[in-house]
Parts: sequence; structure tokens; C-alpha cells
Amino acid sequence: MTAAASYPYDFLIVGAGLFGSCFARIATDNGHRVKVIDRRPHIAGNCYTEEKERIHIHRYGPHIFHTSNEAVWAFINRFATFNNFVNSPLALSRGQLLSLPFNMNTFYQLWQTRTPDEARARIEEQRLQLDRPAANLEEQALSLVGHDIYERLILGYTQKQWQKHPRDLPAEIIRRLPVRFTYDNNYFNDRYQGIPVDGYTQVFNRLLEGIDVQVGVDYHESREYWESQGAQIVYTGKIDELFGYSQGELEYRALKFEDTWHQQRNVQGNAVINYCDADVPWTRMIEHKHFSPQADDPDCSVLTKETPMAWSRTETPYYPVNNDANMAIYKAYAEQAGRLDRYILGGRLAEYKYYDMHAVIGSALLRCQSMGLAVDDRR
Ligand code: UDP
Repeated sequence: MTAAASYPYDFLIVGAGLFGSCFARIATDNGHRVKVIDRRPHIAGNCYTEEKERIHIHRYGPHIFHTSNEAVWAFINRFATFNNFVNSPLALSRGQLLSLPFNMNTFYQLWQTRTPDEARARIEEQRLQLDRPAANLEEQALSLVGHDIYERLILGYTQKQWQKHPRDLPAEIIRRLPVRFTYDNNYFNDRYQGIPVDGYTQVFNRLLEGIDVQVGVDYHESREYWESQGAQIVYTGKIDELFGYSQGELEYRALKFEDTWHQQRNVQGNAVINYCDADVPWTRMIEHKHFSPQADDPDCSVLTKETPMAWSRTETPYYPVNNDANMAIYKAYAEQAGRLDRYILGGRLAEYKYYDMHAVIGSALLRCQSMGLAVDDRR
């Protein structure tokens, strides 16, 4: 696997996000020479956090780490100390704040049902009865929680987020959300959860410690040069861009972030508030300091309004739109990629996958192991 000694490095990693940085660390730990480049002016991809007034601002949207995968948890704990943050977002709908995920608190707030049996009965009477798997997001939502919650908490948010009707979206998007018949506002079911105490960027600094990293370098601008270096190329950018968009362009959703600073310690009282009504353009308001409560709480706070936007090639891609049409295009590229020599593709953009952070790390660990690279995941 090691390239000839005359080459300057064994692996060129394109992209300093999660997949690329984990791969870089493991390859380096296994004695390989690694170089990492990223077209953005910083490392950490969309996990990037920026520190201002002692607050870690999640620059590309809220990132809450959660996993049940022991190997992933052990591996990432080599580079991060997690706090005990538990994600309990609230949802604003028609002037009322409701609990998420859909649980006994939400059902009580909506219907004043007090027991699981009462809540189940209320859902049962308005639920879509299906004798086959849901064919789209609307069917999935209606069959799981019924009409009221679909109308109040899902329809408007989803249309804003994806610019498509839930009927035209895959059911998988909403399978992410738990439905619980307990009074439990924890958004995730995973065993481990938290936020790195000194921000995500520091985690990436540690992952990439001692590795040659160059930011502000666009692989595609000098592809021939990089290919001539003889290294294996770990490519984590957009798969359609790798093939010059020859089979068509894959669709993404973009996001706009607007910050407001307040001379106030606590503005909204929670890290995340979702805005579910269709007539408000933004989907989330984030008060970053609540991700990492600290003893010396600064007497100011920053809130970020997150508004989904149409995506174009020049914008940062956030969410892949994994509907049938896009998946057919992706499949054609993936087949082409399988025939490429020397390329290893991974991560959200190269696999066109709506990945959570822990799943990206898991896939990087597996990929490395499948290549014979040892992974140190001892806690
Ligand atoms: N969703 C919704 N209402 C909400 C939160 C989520 O309808 O208040 C739906 C929406 O379609 C969204 C999907 O559930 O795209 C997944 O939500 P999640 O919070 O997991 O999205 P992420 O944090 O990845 O943006």
C-alpha cells in the first residue's frame, strides 16, 4: 500500500472534515506519510466552531455528538472531552412552545393526555393505517404520530427545510426522530451524548496534530498536479464534482446563518428552538452558549438564525436531497468511482449520504480497518 519512497507522501487527503481527519490520524498512527488539503480557510468541515467571548459558535449549524457505537466513542474520546449536554430542542408552533422529540410532554401540551394509554389512543384515532412500509415522509409521519403533530410540527418545518412537499421526500429523513411514550425530552436514543468542552475545532486540531495540513487549497484547481504525486487519494468532496458533473448535478440544500449578539446572559433559555410554522422563513434559532454551560458565564450571548436556502455550486453544500432522482445519479457516479484506481471515497459529500457525525467516524474506522490499518480505540 505504501507508495514508492520517491513520492513525498502515501496518502493525500482531500478535505479536513470528519472522514478525512479520522483517516489522516489513523494512517499517520500506522506509520504512513499523510498530507491533508482543504479548499476552505479552516479545518473541521461543517463541524467547525469559532470562539468569541468564550462562546463556541457552531458556525455551520448545531452539532450534537451522539453514538451507541463503543469503538467510535472510544476513538473520539482520545481527542475530545465531552460535557454532559443532552439535546432537548423546543418547537415553536402557532405561538406555543412544544417539547421535542415527540413524547409524553408533547402529547400533554397538545392534548392534555396524561398517560401513555391516553396518548396512544389519541394517536390511534388519527393515525394513517398502513399495511406496507411508508412510501414517503408524509406517510411515515402520519402513520407514526397522526394528523395533529404532522400539521403542527412537521409539515411547515419540512417544507422550509427541503423546499419540497413531504410526499416528495423519502421516509428515512424522519425515521431519525424518536417517538416516545415516556416524559423524556432527549432528542437522541444513543448511549453516549455530549459536546466537546473546548469546541469541535480543537478536536480536529488534535486529530490532525503533527500532520501536514494546508487549508485554502482547492484540489480541483490542480488535480493533475496532485494526481502526479503518486499517493493514494482519499477524496471527501462532492462525488459529482470529481467526475466533472458528467452524469448530472446532485442536489443539496444550503443554509443561511445570521448572528445577533445580545448584552444579556440568557436570551431564549435553550440551545435550540425549532420554528415550525410555514410563514416564518427560518427553521432554527440557536443560542450557542447553552451547548456548553460554564462557571464563568459571559454576560452576553449570541444567537444564530438558520434559514434553509436553494443551493448552487458556489455555495456550501449541507443536506443531500436523497430522493429517487438524485440517488439514481449518485449510483451512476458510485459505479464510476468503483473503477477508479488509487481513489478512496468517503464522507457525506463523496457518499451523498445524510450522515450523523458518529456514523462518519464509524465508516472511517471501518474503511481503515478494511485496508489493514490498525485503529487505536482503547479508552
Ligand atoms: N423535522 C420536523 N420538525 C422538527 C424537526 C424535524 O418536521 O421540528 C423533520 C424535518 O423533515 C427534518 C427531519 O425531521 O429535516 C430531521 O430532523 P433533524 O432534527 O434530525 O435534522 P438535522 O438536525 O439533521 O437538521
